[in-house]
Amino acid sequence: MKQRQVLPVHAKPQINFKEKGGFGRPFSFWVYMCGNPLTVRYVISMQCPRFIGHEIFRHSSYGRWHPLRVPRVSTVKDLSRALGWLPPEQFITSPRAKPAALTQWHTPDYIAALQRIEADQTASEQDRKRHDIGSVTNPVFGEIFRRPATAAGGSILAGELLREGGVIYNPAGGTHHGMPDRANGFCYLNDPVLAMLSLRHQGVRRIAYIDIDAHHPDGVEVGFGGDPDCLMISVHEDRLWPRTGQIENDAGGNALNLPVPRGFNDSEMAFVREALIVPRVQAFQPDAIVFLCGADAVEEDPLSHLSLSNNAHWDVLRALMALSPPRLLVLGGGGYNPWSVGRLWTGIWGVLNGYEAPEVLPPDAQAVLRALRFDGNRRGKNPPEHWFTTLRDAPREGVVRDAVKESVDVLLKR
Ligand SMILES: [Zn+2]
Repeated sequence: MKQRQVLPVHAKPQINFKEKGGFGRPFSFWVYMCGNPLTVRYVISMQCPRFIGHEIFRHSSYGRWHPLRVPRVSTVKDLSRALGWLPPEQFITSPRAKPAALTQWHTPDYIAALQRIEADQTASEQDRKRHDIGSVTNPVFGEIFRRPATAAGGSILAGELLREGGVIYNPAGGTHHGMPDRANGFCYLNDPVLAMLSLRHQGVRRIAYIDIDAHHPDGVEVGFGGDPDCLMISVHEDRLWPRTGQIENDAGGNALNLPVPRGFNDSEMAFVREALIVPRVQAFQPDAIVFLCGADAVEEDPLSHLSLSNNAHWDVLRALMALSPPRLLVLGGGGYNPWSVGRLWTGIWGVLNGYEAPEVLPPDAQAVLRALRFDGNRRGKNPPEHWFTTLRDAPREGVVRDAVKESVDVLLKR
């Protein structure tokens, strides 16, 4: 079969005024001046990064005391719009995945249980035992099926739209703990696995999965462990839940797991990025990169103990983009401080589009941040002014500790 021609993400677009480009169209229909407000209104280009979102994430909450009571995706959307970074042409409303799409990886019993529990708003003892639904971690809540199915629908759609190449951002995605038959760690479904299966369905073979969330992606390892055409690199806090992803664990040969100590700083992430992530992804020559940028690895997150600033995440993304992957899918993940998540993930969208974060946010953007509440957490009582007025954190540089260097050495010997 003839190989499709695939252009790198940053290739110069071809100009063709005769036909508007669109997803699924050959790249010869690419049009130009993506990002120019005068033309972008009339022109659709595969080359513009796409933002997948949905209003379901604005008001849906896992409950009053759950870490996922805070708004996340809606903040990113509102901030991006306030900055003029998200014209309607770049936004895609996420579809809700149908059960048949979800059972590409999840069990039919589990998907049926999620739908039934949403309708009844109650989980049985059997649901608790078998699917771990109705626990403190994975509670029953109003949109227990629709919300994860919408995040997963976005990731599955992204896999389809990326067939010919491009860049897609689905900040609602990144539920990397979900298991085939049960909920796990706030994740009811596993949209990264479903996204990668969707890419595979489109003929995209070699996938590099890079995960810098504070937690180890145990569910993704269940999905793709032992797959030689999938390289999985995870940087996560040592001994943090789920306590998997030890350095010795290679998931059947295709995972590089780097547990890092508490207080992991920007300089250490820069070291890991240049010594491990970039060379390994480059050598792998992926047809697609899936990047999960959990915002719980930053200093102000209430659930982990790492000390990154949001610059670290943006710099890893820039380094991956510099490799010019034919396809790039960026997913959200964890992140439980509403200001950290909103600022970090909006900055990710800025990096994808080549925008510089303004030193001081315009009033509309500040208003989005000032309206956020973080009830029930000490960080919400007296938030510092720069959480309202900036996107970029002050860098948190420091010593690159021997423990980090030694762990990277261990992995480089593989
Ligand atoms: Zn996490």
